[in-house]
Amino acid sequence: MRKEYMMTPGPTPVPAEILLSQARPMFHHRTPQFSELLADIEDGLKYIFETKNDVLFFASSGTGVMESSVINLLSAGDKVICCSNGKFGERLIKLNEAYGMNVVKLEYPWDRVVNPEDIKRELDNNPDTKAVYVVQSETSTGILNDVKAIGAIVKNYDAVFVVDSITGIGAVECKTDEWNLDVVMTGSQKGLMMPPGLAAVSVSDKAWAASEKSTLPKFYFSWKKAADSLHKPAPTTPFTPAISLIVGLGEAIRLMRREGLENIAKRHAILAEAARTGAEAMGLKLFAPANGRGSAVTPVWVPEGVDGGKLVKLLKDEYGITVAGGQDHLKGKIFRIGHLGYFDRFDILTTLAGIEMVLAELGHPVTLGMGIQAAERVFMDNPF
Ligand SMILES: *Cc1c(COP(=O)(O)O)cnc(C)c1O
Repeated sequence: MRKEYMMTPGPTPVPAEILLSQARPMFHHRTPQFSELLADIEDGLKYIFETKNDVLFFASSGTGVMESSVINLLSAGDKVICCSNGKFGERLIKLNEAYGMNVVKLEYPWDRVVNPEDIKRELDNNPDTKAVYVVQSETSTGILNDVKAIGAIVKNYDAVFVVDSITGIGAVECKTDEWNLDVVMTGSQKGLMMPPGLAAVSVSDKAWAASEKSTLPKFYFSWKKAADSLHKPAPTTPFTPAISLIVGLGEAIRLMRREGLENIAKRHAILAEAARTGAEAMGLKLFAPANGRGSAVTPVWVPEGVDGGKLVKLLKDEYGITVAGGQDHLKGKIFRIGHLGYFDRFDILTTLAGIEMVLAELGHPVTLGMGIQAAERVFMDNPF
């Protein structure tokens, strides 16, 4: 018998309360029971997104709502500024190009944060820009971009600010209204602690005004259809919703309200601090720069002389610990410890212990226990 530990930044582990809630018998969605649940969910999503805006949701992975933002906000040939400092920033560019947008690319090396001043400059140079796209928490590199600072800039222009917070929401602060984030997106299998299959998007008044001018074709992912159904006296969805997932989301919201958003962000910050401190105490180097380290995932350089692919494989095969490898040019060069959503202290200690044992086995000079000692100290100094 072996126990499995899924230390990946999506999908993420699902608490038993959520899993069990989804096992309930099916019920019909054109019923008062479903309308009541939906009203509750809408309240809960507003709490989690820290917004008064509509939060719409669709049966899709995160990429579905990313696509919804393009087709609801834009028209073919519109100018958009897309910031990219990792794999998901690249996806924003590809998505906008797929729909024929005129994309102004702000591309950075993967170990740099997006510079808000660059966005200001591009907005000044391109006053016809319709939208600015930024990933808040870049899952491929662990970098946290400062969407608060960027929001303070974009609010002074006509462009709508669209934020991919798919590994931000539920892990770090994301103050939609206070920070002037017009469109914020997340997916169920990340900080919401759920199985994959639901994605949510908040829409500000500025974004609704932009959507009225949008001429790209839209049907299933139409924000207007979703909002019209949601605003009926008995709230509903335009099409058959993912009923079991929505029941699960109700449970996730209950758990998140119970812990409180501030405590959730604090827990993630401490878990991330322990993961970083532990990795460094083992003699490993962190990938993300000190000015942009997020709390969702900790990317670590594979040490010289160690085969990164082997490290990830041995962790899984021998100890049942799944961490994520690097993507694209970082494949084999970094590994990523996810700690986003349903994670606690012993998940981090388990993973650090596994990494120490595998490194020792691969002949890397490491003193067993150094990483976990350092992480334990972080936890003892920062109770939550
Ligand atoms: C997971 C993720 C997405 C969406 O990916 P899906 O596989 O479509 O859910 C988008 N952006 C970021 C930053 C992510 O981590």
